[in-house]
Amino acid sequence: MGRKVLVLEDETNIRSFVVINLKRAGYETVEAGTGQEALDQLKRNPDVNVALLDVMLPDMDGFEVCRRIRSGNSRIGIIMLTARTQEMDKVTGLMTGADDYVTKPFSPAELTARIDALCRRATGETAVDTGEISQPPFLLNTRNRTLEKNGARVKLTQVEYAIVKLFMDNAGKAMSREEILDAVWGKDYFGEVKIVDVNIRRLRIKIEDDPTNPTYITTVWGYGYKWGF
Ligand code: CA
Repeated sequence: MGRKVLVLEDETNIRSFVVINLKRAGYETVEAGTGQEALDQLKRNPDVNVALLDVMLPDMDGFEVCRRIRSGNSRIGIIMLTARTQEMDKVTGLMTGADDYVTKPFSPAELTARIDALCRRATGETAVDTGEISQPPFLLNTRNRTLEKNGARVKLTQVEYAIVKLFMDNAGKAMSREEILDAVWGKDYFGEVKIVDVNIRRLRIKIEDDPTNPTYITTVWGYGYKWGF
């Protein structure tokens, strides 16, 4: 089970606050105060499931730490801890290797909810790692987390991949938007159910023959969606 978190934060009071709350939530923690320390800690603890990376650090910025971690590890979940003063455009632009970000000040409940969601995704992946799910014209590779349509690769975000995987596991079944939100984002996700529609709209553009007349992801009026064909 994925329950080990690296906390990289140079401000010791914030770091202890985060660590105390993660321990209370049942996580094992590893701490670092500089980028270099974080990289060393990960070498010593290859079983870390999620890394929390502060952006403002004394030796290098958190995005650089993220890049270095990501270059050797595609499975670890990465959450950036950003300050409200950092422009969101810049943050999302730099976020290429990260899975999520949390803006300071954050509540312990919000942070653990985000970590839980990433852990569940990571461990769920290993639990059902059967290789491939073939539902022509689609082929989902659960090892590489890739999707092909008629043999051509469809580029998906991590969240879009999780939605397609969920649909394929529940082919033909009408799924409520809440059900999709719980399964993909986690039961404690603080966001709105609208995020489901936003992602479905994007997915349809990527996978439907005609996104305005979807046949793979159909709408179940007043309820949710169905992977139906
Ligand atoms: Ca800092």
